[in-house]
Amino acid sequence: MDPRHLVVVGGGMVAQRLVEALRDRDTDGTWSVTVLAEEPRRPYDRVALTSYFNGRSPEDLSLGDPALWDDPLVSLVRGDKAVAVDREARVVTVASGRTFPYDHLVLATGSYAWVPPMEGADLDGVFVYRTLDDVAALRGYVNNLAEERPVRGVVLGGGLLGLEAAGALDALGARATVLQVDTHLMSAQVDLGGGEALRRLVNRLGIGVRTQSMTTRVLPHRRGGVGRVELADGTRLDADVVVVAAGVRPRDELGRESGLPIGPRGGVVVDDSCLTVDPHVSAVGEVACIQGACIGLVAPGYTMAEVTVDRLLGGGGAVYTGADTATKLKLAGVDVASFGDAFARTPGALEVVWADPVGGVYKKLVMSDDARTLLGGVLVGDASAYAMLRPMVGRELPGDPAAFLLPEGGAGAPDLELPDDAGVCSCNNVSAGAIRHAVAEEGCHDLGAVKACTRAGTSCGSCLPLVKKLMAAELGKLGITVSSALCEHFALSRAQLYDAIRVAGVRTFTEVVERFGTHGRGCDICRPVVASILATTAPAHVLDGERATLQDTNDHVMANLQKDGSYSVVPRMAGGEVTPEGLIAVGEVARDFGLYTKITGGQRVDMFGARIDQLPLIWQRLIDAGFESGHAYGKSLRTVKSCVGSTWCRFGVQDSVALAVMLELRYRGLRSPHKIKLGVSGCARECAEARGKDVGVIATDNGWNVYVGGNGGFTPRHARLLAEDLDTETLVRTIDRFLLYYVRTADRLQRTAPWIEDVEGGLEGVRAVVMDDSLGICADLDEQMAQHVVDYEDEWRATLDDPEKLKRFASFVNAPDVPDPSLAYVPERGQVRPATADERAVLVAGTTLEVRS
Ligand SMILES: Cc1cc2nc3c(=O)[nH]c(=O)nc-3n(C[C@H](O)[C@H](O)[C@H](O)COP(=O)(O)OP(=O)(O)OC[C@H]3O[C@@H](n4cnc5c(N)ncnc54)[C@H](O)[C@@H]3O)c2cc1C
Ligand code: SF4
Repeated sequence: MDPRHLVVVGGGMVAQRLVEALRDRDTDGTWSVTVLAEEPRRPYDRVALTSYFNGRSPEDLSLGDPALWDDPLVSLVRGDKAVAVDREARVVTVASGRTFPYDHLVLATGSYAWVPPMEGADLDGVFVYRTLDDVAALRGYVNNLAEERPVRGVVLGGGLLGLEAAGALDALGARATVLQVDTHLMSAQVDLGGGEALRRLVNRLGIGVRTQSMTTRVLPHRRGGVGRVELADGTRLDADVVVVAAGVRPRDELGRESGLPIGPRGGVVVDDSCLTVDPHVSAVGEVACIQGACIGLVAPGYTMAEVTVDRLLGGGGAVYTGADTATKLKLAGVDVASFGDAFARTPGALEVVWADPVGGVYKKLVMSDDARTLLGGVLVGDASAYAMLRPMVGRELPGDPAAFLLPEGGAGAPDLELPDDAGVCSCNNVSAGAIRHAVAEEGCHDLGAVKACTRAGTSCGSCLPLVKKLMAAELGKLGITVSSALCEHFALSRAQLYDAIRVAGVRTFTEVVERFGTHGRGCDICRPVVASILATTAPAHVLDGERATLQDTNDHVMANLQKDGSYSVVPRMAGGEVTPEGLIAVGEVARDFGLYTKITGGQRVDMFGARIDQLPLIWQRLIDAGFESGHAYGKSLRTVKSCVGSTWCRFGVQDSVALAVMLELRYRGLRSPHKIKLGVSGCARECAEARGKDVGVIATDNGWNVYVGGNGGFTPRHARLLAEDLDTETLVRTIDRFLLYYVRTADRLQRTAPWIEDVEGGLEGVRAVVMDDSLGICADLDEQMAQHVVDYEDEWRATLDDPEKLKRFASFVNAPDVPDPSLAYVPERGQVRPATADERAVLVAGTTLEVRS
C-alpha cells in the first residue's frame, strides 16, 4: 500500500522533531512527509541562535542527524513559503506556485518577532532577533559601522530575548543599552528582588539598563539609518542600531485564511491531541493555541510533536498535559533561572529568600504552606541549584529549604536522590530514570553518549549539570571512573587544559577552542576559566581584544559592583602599609567624589558609591598619588595582611611588614582559580590571623613557618603547617611554587583548602611537590613566577592610557555624559549610604543629595 502523505508547513524546531519522531517510530513506512520551509536552510537550533555571535556557524546550529533529510520518505522544500491551504481539496500551495496534496497537514509555522507600531521602525539599522538571517544581517550591519565609529546599540525589551540580544551586541563590540517598559528585567519570570539583582549583573557586563522606559519612536541619523530612539518621557538616546525584542506573535495566517478557529490572542486553536476542528489538520509548536494559550518555548512544542506522531500512527490516547515553563537565561556571566510558581501565586505559598546584594545573588524558593513541597523558585546570580531543583517541583524537599539556597549550589543541602520519574530535561522530556537507564543499560559512559542516546541537554542545555551528576552517580555504581571534563566544550579538566595551553603556547581563546575544544565557542563555565589560564600563561591586559569578552563579572570594569549599582574602588596598600600622603590623597579622592570609606579586613581602604563613569577619573587621581589597582575585583591575589612586626612591636621576632610588602608586590595581579589571600605575623601571637589565609607566614626565632589552605567564608578552615623555620629566600620560593602549583592544577572556583584535599596525598602530596620536587616541575614553576614578576603591569594605569578601553566606562552607553540617575544617597554617620527603596522614591523623583564631583 502506498504511504499516506503528511505535509508539514514550517521547517523549524518542532517540525524537525516531528519528522524525526515519525521516522523513528513509523518503521513500516506508512507515512511519507514533505516539509515546506520558508527559510532557505534545514531546521536549526533557534534556541542557540545567540551562539552564532560566539563563532558558531549556521551548520553548527543544524538540528539532529542530517541523514534524516536523505530518507526516501522525507522531502524538504526550502526557501518556498506556503501561501494557501485548500482544506476541501486538501492541498497546500507555495509561493513558487507548486502544490502539495496531503492526507494530513501539520501547521508548524512558529512565531514572528513583534515590532510595536512606531515611527521609524522601518529605518535601516532596526532589527528583530528571530532567524539566522536576522542575526547575520545584524552582525553585518554592526561590523560595517564599527569600521567607521564605535557602535551604540539599543535593545527594546528586557525579557529573555532582549538580554540575549544585548549580549550579542556586546559580543560584537557594540555598547548596548536595554530599554524595558516594565519595572524590572525579565518581569515575566522573576520578581522585583530578582530583577534588581539581575540588573546589577547585567550592568557588570557593561550593558546599560533603563527600566520603565517606553520607546515611542526611532529617529533617523542625518547620514541615513538609525540615529536615536525617543522615550515616552521625551528622553532621546543616541543609537546606531536598534534590536526589537518586544515579544512574538503566532504565525497563524494560513489557519486564519483557511477558516480555522483562532485563539483570542492569536494562534490556531487545537485540542489536547493537537488537532484543529478539521480532523485532517493539526497545529504544533508556537503557532498552536493549546489550552487557551500559545507558548513561546520549545519543550511544549516537542511534546506536541510527539503527541501528533502518536496520533498519526494510530496510538490511542496521547495527549498534551501542560507545559513546563521553567526558563534559564543564556547570557554568559549572568546566571538566572525561574521555574514553577515563581511568583508564589498558589494560595498559602511561602517564600524562602536568600540574598547577597554584594555578591549580586538573589535566590527564592516558593514552598507549599507547610514549607515541605517545592512549588517554584527564582535564582539570580547563582543558578547552580536550578538543574537539581526544577525536577523537584511538586515534590517534598528533604530538610530545610533554606539549605538549598546557600552559596555554591546549596553547600550543606541534603543530596537529592531524584526519583526515576522526575523530569530532568524539560525541553526533551527526559526523566532521571531514562538517564540512569542509558548509563547502566545502554553503555553510555560519557556526556556526549548520554546526550545522543536520550536527547537530554541537547536544546537549551540548562539541565546538563544535573545530567552530568546523574551520569557520574550511575557510573560510580558501575565502578567506572568519572570524566573530569571542564564542560561540554572541553574534554580536558581545568588542570589538563592549563597544561595543554601552556605547552602549546597558544595565546588566544580562538586558538584554544580550535586546538583543544570539542565544538562550539564555549560557555560561561569555560570562557572565564580560559581567560584566567591565559592570564598566567600568555599575560595580556584583561580588557585586551577578545579577552575582554571572556571576563567574569567585576573584571569587566575592574571594580566591585555594589547593591545599588555603584562600584567600589580599592587601591593597593601592600602589607597594609600607607604613608600619610597616601592616606591624605585617598581621603581627598573619597571626599571629592562623595564616596563612603571603610577600612577592609585586608587592611586597606575601600571607597564605595562610585559611578561607572567616575572610575577612570578616580583612578587617575589615585595613580597620580602613587597607587595602583588592588585587584579587589579579580580571582587573583587580594592582600597580604600583616601585623606591625619586630620594627615596633615588643614581642616581634621578624619584620612581618617588610615581608608582607615584598610578597604582595611579588604576587600582585596573579590570576588564579579563586581569590588568594596571604598573611604574615611577626611572632607566634599571630595578630595578623595568618592561619586564616591561603598562605600564612608566622615568624619564629629561626626564620618563618609557612601554613597553607586557610580560608574564611562559609566553610572556614585553619591553614596547616607546610614547612618550618625557613629562611626568607626558601620561604619565598616555597610560596611561589605552592601558588603556581595551585594555579595550574586546581579546579575552577576551587579554593586552596579543598584543592589540597584533592591533590593526591593531600598536604603531604603538596609538600612533596613544592619542597621535594617530586614531579620534577619546580624549575618550571620558579621560572614562571619570575616571569610573572617581570610581566606585571598595573591594569588601571594601562587602561587610562588606552582610549579604546576607556570607552566602556560610561553610565549610559548611549548618553555617555549622563550620570546614572537611579543612584541616590542619604547621609549617615558623617558619610553617605545608598538610599532605601522608600527614601529613593523621594530622592530620585525630587531632590538628590549634593555630592561634590
Ligand atoms: C534567540 C532565541 C532564543 C530562544 N531561547 C529559548 C530557550 O532558551 N528556551 C526555549 O524553550 N525556547 C527558546 N526560544 C524559543 C524557541 O526557539 C521556539 O519556541 C521554537 O523555535 C519554536 O519552534 P517552532 O517550530 O514552533 O517555530 P520556529 O522554530 O519559529 O519555526 C517555524 C518555521 O516556520 C517557518 N514558516 C512560517 N510560516 C511559514 C510558511 N507559511 N511557509 C513555510 N514556512 C513557514 C518559519 O520561517 C520558521 O522557520 C528562543 C528563541 C529565540 C529566537
Ligand atoms: S604577631 Fe607578634 S609581632 Fe605581630 S603584632 Fe602580634 S605580638 Fe607583635
